[in-house]
Amino acid sequence: MSERLPIAPRAGSAARTKIEADPRVDLKSMPRERLGLWFKEELGEPRYRADQVFSWLHQKRVRSFSDMTNLSKALRGRLDEVARIGGLTLEEVKVAKDGTRKLLLATAAGDLIETVIIPMEDRLTQCISSQVGCKIGCDFCLTARMPLRRHLAASEIVDQVLWAQEVIGEGKSINNLVYMGMGEPLDNYSNVLASLKTLTDEQGLHMGTKRITVSTSGVVPKIAKLGADIKVNLAVSLNATTDAQRTALIPINKVWNIETLMAALRAFPLPPRRRITVEYVMLAGFNDSLEDAVRLTRLLRGLRCKVNLIPFNPWPGSVYKRPAADHVDRFAVVLRDADYTVTVRYSKGEDIGAACGQLDGAPQAA
Ligand code: SAH
Ligand code: SF4
Repeated sequence: MSERLPIAPRAGSAARTKIEADPRVDLKSMPRERLGLWFKEELGEPRYRADQVFSWLHQKRVRSFSDMTNLSKALRGRLDEVARIGGLTLEEVKVAKDGTRKLLLATAAGDLIETVIIPMEDRLTQCISSQVGCKIGCDFCLTARMPLRRHLAASEIVDQVLWAQEVIGEGKSINNLVYMGMGEPLDNYSNVLASLKTLTDEQGLHMGTKRITVSTSGVVPKIAKLGADIKVNLAVSLNATTDAQRTALIPINKVWNIETLMAALRAFPLPPRRRITVEYVMLAGFNDSLEDAVRLTRLLRGLRCKVNLIPFNPWPGSVYKRPAADHVDRFAVVLRDADYTVTVRYSKGEDIGAACGQLDGAPQAA
């Protein structure tokens, strides 16, 4: 099912050049602290004005300065001259049989990205994208077929959540946020960090840090930095138990191998009662043997973690296959017998291409 929204056509190449050359500063990309400084230094305006603008952008979700009715007309005019409100336009909403919704959104430059809203019992989890494409190049991931076209601006990351709020309507809210859509979040570190600061701000959406998870393929130097900068949850796509296997799947394992990655995970500053999520994509006949399961129990020994097994989601042209469900269960039992908490994540929204590793920014044939 697909509902087309009455939205302006996407920017063509002329518009694209114009937008990319737009010298005005993007206010939606600024966390509140930075916005306050900018108001003071650039406009000579007090901090509370910046707070007002921040709340217009992130709580009331307005998309133009003219809607900010508690600012003087003069200030609104001045803002229009020197600043812009970055973000995305909503192109399409697709609804899967299981209630999962996929939002197709366009950047001002005309690139398409995706975000997915997944109902889980009475809660809503949103999976957001951090880049257009990805340069890590994992062999099993559809996003990797697309070269890295662009890092998303903080405003474009935050706007995925603001649009999701718009689509689900008042009275409901996004309960959990996972940075598991298109792209490698830690390869776009500063914009991802700015988005986290904005999304958790008490004068914005005020999402709890406990409810946000950043997933990485293992960009080791940025793992420690994230832990020092903000207390969100960390998920790591381990996906293999030997370096030979892992390098074949995730090329950056050549730079940061399993041992280096595990050391970074052990050093990650976990708040009390929190655990690292270890993701493990299960590929039939490649990394799903019971020996792999045993090796995994040894690798993770002593790490405060939970394991998330993700049976592979196939896409056209993929060489890997999903293991049989009873085989996945046997793998899980080995881990459980060693006292690990294990969940098997059968992805939702497969019929609309919204499952893990199925995001490529392309509108699907209806
Ligand atoms: N770049 C980050 C986050 C996005 S990928 C990362 O790699 O962690 C989110 C998760 O989807 C990762 O755990 C990845 O291993 C998994 N994934 C990618 N393609 C998949 C596929 N086709 N089937 C199942 N899981 C997949
Ligand atoms: Fe990039 Fe993650 Fe896909 Fe690997 S699995 S290509 S890191 S999005």
